[in-house]
Amino acid sequence: MMQPDSANANEGIREYRADPQGAPRRRNSVPDSQQTRGYRQRLPVRLTRSVFDDLSIWMIGVGVLIGVAFPPMLVAFGVPREIVLTPFFFAVCLVAGIAVGGINIRLMRVVVMPRLRALVDGMRLIQTVVENATYTGDWTDCDSETCQLPVDSDDIIGESASAFNHLIGVLQHSHEVEDRVADFSKTMTSQLELGPLCNGALSGFIAATSATAGAIIADVGGELSVLASFGIVEAEGLCENDQVRLALRTQEPVYVELPDGLSVNAGLVQFQPREVAFMPLIIHSAAIGVVVLAKSTAFERDSRSLSQIFGRTFVMALSNAMKHGDLQRIAALDPLTNCYNRRFGLTRLREEYTRAQRSDSPLGVVIFDIDHFKAVNDTHGHLIGDRVLTSVAREAKNLLREGDVLVRYGGEEFLCILPSATVEGAAEICERLRGAIEALEVRDRDQVISCTISLGYGSFPTTPADDETALIRAADEALYRAKNDGRNRSAEAR
Ligand code: GH3
Ligand code: MG
Ligand code: MG
Repeated sequence: MMQPDSANANEGIREYRADPQGAPRRRNSVPDSQQTRGYRQRLPVRLTRSVFDDLSIWMIGVGVLIGVAFPPMLVAFGVPREIVLTPFFFAVCLVAGIAVGGINIRLMRVVVMPRLRALVDGMRLIQTVVENATYTGDWTDCDSETCQLPVDSDDIIGESASAFNHLIGVLQHSHEVEDRVADFSKTMTSQLELGPLCNGALSGFIAATSATAGAIIADVGGELSVLASFGIVEAEGLCENDQVRLALRTQEPVYVELPDGLSVNAGLVQFQPREVAFMPLIIHSAAIGVVVLAKSTAFERDSRSLSQIFGRTFVMALSNAMKHGDLQRIAALDPLTNCYNRRFGLTRLREEYTRAQRSDSPLGVVIFDIDHFKAVNDTHGHLIGDRVLTSVAREAKNLLREGDVLVRYGGEEFLCILPSATVEGAAEICERLRGAIEALEVRDRDQVISCTISLGYGSFPTTPADDETALIRAADEALYRAKNDGRNRSAEAR
């Protein structure tokens, strides 16, 4: 549905052109009220309330004028005065002028009027269909057959039909938006648990914007946490992302365009997004979180405004859920694997280290990392990679004792805190973990995916460590050795 691009006879009438999404785009940037004022001011002088009566008066008037002016004109062309400047000749010319005016009026009514009448009748018919659809909420009857006028002329009538069609399109579109917002609000109001709420919201955001990946980050207990993520590698890293912080600080959406051929900052998403949106979640003038959406094409105007409308609904539900939910528990968990997250894990390790020091009891640690995990992602895709990661975490959690703590330390790297475990105990746990993960099978349709892990372990005080970070460092170095020695094995910290 394209408007003719010809110069507009009446400049005051607004011109719209459809953009690729079908949404109207204004041709100039004059504000609405000014446009409407301009439209009113530029109307020609009106004699009556009917444009056709005005036209008739002008046509008869011009006929009379020509009738009066014709005899003197003939004199100027050399016709003898005594022939043309007579009352009889004047009367003949006047009658002829009026007759031509009358014929024009008739022609206008025969040629133009039926087309205008057809246009109005068509509009009235569509108006009835649209009214019904608005009240019933069922727009299936309003298709391109019934709700669009034929545009069969390159003139102002064709332009009017086209503008009307466009208006109906806008109306239908706004109804669709209203429906989607209502559905989203329903999902939001029916959920008070933070996890399902955020997962539902993220699905809504992704569907509304056709994004390929996304995450919801919010300030939980004074620190940023990832509450939901989909398709983003190492989503935890987003808490440190500059654009996330910028969106929170300015309380304005940030859109980062990535020119073709440029690789995405490692660790954000695995595909090559064209644009990434960071939308702040604002409530009571405070930004409490950010929705991150990554897309392989640019975010169109529709996606941007829809996601902002969703954001306003979601932030209220999020705020309610935060008040309702167990914040401490959520703040401590990694959303993908349900293990403790790195921040919580390090706090626990510090506590356990202090306790071990004070009570003179050992503290075992194991760090393990999935071998060649990048190849799993590359071969089976990121979602299967996520499933492998979740299965490994579940298996490890099942093997650990009550009181042991499993932490997702990095992307595919886990830390086990083993209170009271000696070096021998830690080595035994390593072997159990290694064997169990080696035997683990994850099914993807007809394929079976398996993986191995490499582990580094140690135990304070046998493993010398001045503080908990030194203990981790020692275990990490041992893991590095296990990798270098061929993987699928464990190594003791020195
Ligand atoms: P190595 O045996 O040396 O550990 O090889 P690797 O391929 O496992 O190691 P590398 O560190 O090169 O790759 C780790 C990969 O893990 C890279 C990253 O894409 C992937 N990864 C990290 N976090 C996630 C996640 O949450 N989900 C998925 N699917 N992949 C992740
Ligand atoms: Mg690895
Ligand atoms: Mg790794």
